[in-house]
Amino acid sequence: MSSLDYLIVGTGLFGSVLAHKLHGIGKKCLIIDKRTHIGGNVYTENINGINVHKYGAHIFHTSNKQVWDYVNSLVEFNRYTNSPVANYKGKLYNLPFNMNTFYQMWGVTTPEQAAAKIAQQRQESGIVNPSNLEEQAISLIGKDIYYTLIKDYTEKQWGRKATELPAFIIKRLPVRFTFDNNYFNDKYQGIPIGGYTKLIEKMLEGVEVKLNTDYFENKPYFDSIADRVVYTGEIDRFFDYCYGHLEYRTVFFETELLEGISNYQGNAVINYTDAVTPYTRIIEHKHFEFGQQPDTVISREYSKEWRPGDEPYYPVNDDRNSALYAKYKELAGKQSKVIFGGRLAEYRYYDMHQVIESAFELYDKLTK
Ligand code: FAD
Ligand code: UDP
Repeated sequence: MSSLDYLIVGTGLFGSVLAHKLHGIGKKCLIIDKRTHIGGNVYTENINGINVHKYGAHIFHTSNKQVWDYVNSLVEFNRYTNSPVANYKGKLYNLPFNMNTFYQMWGVTTPEQAAAKIAQQRQESGIVNPSNLEEQAISLIGKDIYYTLIKDYTEKQWGRKATELPAFIIKRLPVRFTFDNNYFNDKYQGIPIGGYTKLIEKMLEGVEVKLNTDYFENKPYFDSIADRVVYTGEIDRFFDYCYGHLEYRTVFFETELLEGISNYQGNAVINYTDAVTPYTRIIEHKHFEFGQQPDTVISREYSKEWRPGDEPYYPVNDDRNSALYAKYKELAGKQSKVIFGGRLAEYRYYDMHQVIESAFELYDKLTK
């Protein structure tokens, strides 16, 4: 007889939402993580009063009211609106691509002039059916913006030519003909006051948590103590890489506490869109929460090719990896006890709100 209803592998957002919901209806759950802390990639660490996003800038945004109400029922969110700035060889441009960017790029002052400029560049490119990121970007926004704000940044971030990347990646960014620097189109947006770790702590209140615990170090034991296992780690690792490794893009951070400097760059996120600057962006964490501390903490974000053993961050949804994932997914479908969910187990470029939606769906399925 197993003593638990659920063993949940991974204290990231997926595992924590599920644990919270299942615990809420009286299910006995144990949640484990191989890391030394809860929260997976949304983990924030307090340094000199500043909540540092240890695994990269995380801005919560959603149009799903159920998801928004859920997170707000746990912690209070502030009114932060992400408005990154791009630095290309010392000149600054607003993001996402909007009337401010078009003015900075071309000096145009009306939506009509901007649209005409883009239409002209699109026509000159001759692209009709964009089949990769480069073609998609040029046909969306024209070659000037592509070469200044997209090409080098994208190739730094993904380590691949923009012509070899799927078009959908660039469609994540809004293009607008208004003077609006909001990076997202979603209805709701903000940052949990006090950091994401506080949000995860709330989710895991009353749930048994074991950190520094790798599921694979004692899989037979963990499988024996629960009726069901929810696995949120890498799907290929679960199957011992029997078809080979799925690839990821990984990032690493150089984080610095700047004592006595209260405002380093005036914005939470500045992207460096040229090819020479080795990092993709600098995050100044205090601005996510309008911090007034005397010091500041910045992180330079570098992107690099993932090697087995590195921290997996972004799934690379190209043809090769998508085909490989399909094979692992088929194996996963044959597991009766283990359920797979989250960014790594589903090998999807999920944002936080999508992870929560996906955890809600699984919860509904398990409890219906
Ligand atoms: P994870 O957070 O990866 O959690 C999985 C957990 O499982 C980890 O803690 C891991 O240690 C644990 N685990 C894995 N294997 C094992 C094992 N064998 N045993 C025990 N534990 C194990 N989303 C947004 O909405 N807005 C943003 O601004 C945003 N910015 C991002 C920036 C970066 C740099 C990255 C990488 C992602 C960003 N995201 C953003 C996406 C967001 O991080 C994810 O959607 C979300 O954190 C995924 O949650 P998860 O639970 O699926 O995975
Ligand atoms: N991108 C770009 N220039 C920028 C910001 C983004 O070319 O200044 C491209 C890049 O290809 C990136 C994609 O747009 O992968 C999506 O950007 P987003 O900020 O959504 O990426 P994430 O937050 O996941 O790092």
